[in-house]
Amino acid sequence: MLGTDLLRHTAMLSVAVAVLGALMQPASLVQPASLGAASPASLRRSAVMVGQDAPQAIRATRLTGGSHRAEDACMMAGSEKTVMILFGPPGAGKGSQAPKIVEKLSIPQLSTGDMLRAAVAAGSEVGKQAKDVMASGGLVSDELVVSIIRERITEADCKEGFILDGFPRTVEQAKMLDEMLGAAGDKVSLVLALEVPDEVLTERICGRWVHKASGRSYHVKFAKPTSLADGATPSEETMLDDETGEALMQRADDTEEALTKRLQGYHDQTVPILAHYEPTGIVSKVDANIKPEQVWTSIEKVLP
Ligand code: AMP
Repeated sequence: MLGTDLLRHTAMLSVAVAVLGALMQPASLVQPASLGAASPASLRRSAVMVGQDAPQAIRATRLTGGSHRAEDACMMAGSEKTVMILFGPPGAGKGSQAPKIVEKLSIPQLSTGDMLRAAVAAGSEVGKQAKDVMASGGLVSDELVVSIIRERITEADCKEGFILDGFPRTVEQAKMLDEMLGAAGDKVSLVLALEVPDEVLTERICGRWVHKASGRSYHVKFAKPTSLADGATPSEETMLDDETGEALMQRADDTEEALTKRLQGYHDQTVPILAHYEPTGIVSKVDANIKPEQVWTSIEKVLP
């Protein structure tokens, strides 16, 4: 009897040492998966300082053969991971609101569009597969984006959770996401849907110019760079970044033709995702056809 107690205490002590050891690891700066040379902006969006946490301690005990008792204790102490889907049509303002959500929740934004654009710019195999279909406003294959996300969410900065931007785009992707999260004991905890009518989106998207290196976004009407004089025609000569003076550019798929296809894809393939998640009560819809500051006020109310 005494021997059994001694053994149990020794086992508990070694588990506690393993958990403590894991907790005392130094914090690390983590960068996203290497799909190619990501832009500084997308790197910034995905790089987050993280320390070790309860789930990591659980993994540490698994690796060191720790007992389920330690897992249970950590599970009770740890909070549920925030897996948020930032949902909305192109031009809804996801890119503008996401950095504020990142700051508030201290979890990274994972934008499949940014990752794919970085892959295209780097000329990687993924980029070669995605380039033409992206430029035309179509969707790349479910398998390709799911594999990108599957790899990315294993990075250390995703341990507390992450914000999915531009993913899932089809019900099939949503099901694959649920399955991959479920395998790790996680699930989608919030779908935040930004709502804007199509006619507003066309004007927003087709007037959008970006500074590629920083990700800063401008608009020929709503957010003009200082270089664009009143009445001047927007061009690479007149559209310059306020901070660096470098030429701005338009995304290859920010044309009216590609946008028509993107919006059609959004309504046909992406919107049904809301019906997929609605029964679980995690969908929050926000009117995003108002000033960005007001949109942010609405968003803040539904964030965990
Ligand atoms: P975005 O920046 O989210 O508008 O994405 C730009 C383009 O990348 C899209 O028009 C698609 O061609 C491609 N893309 C991004 N995310 C996905 C996804 N989840 N599924 C399929 N294609 C995607």
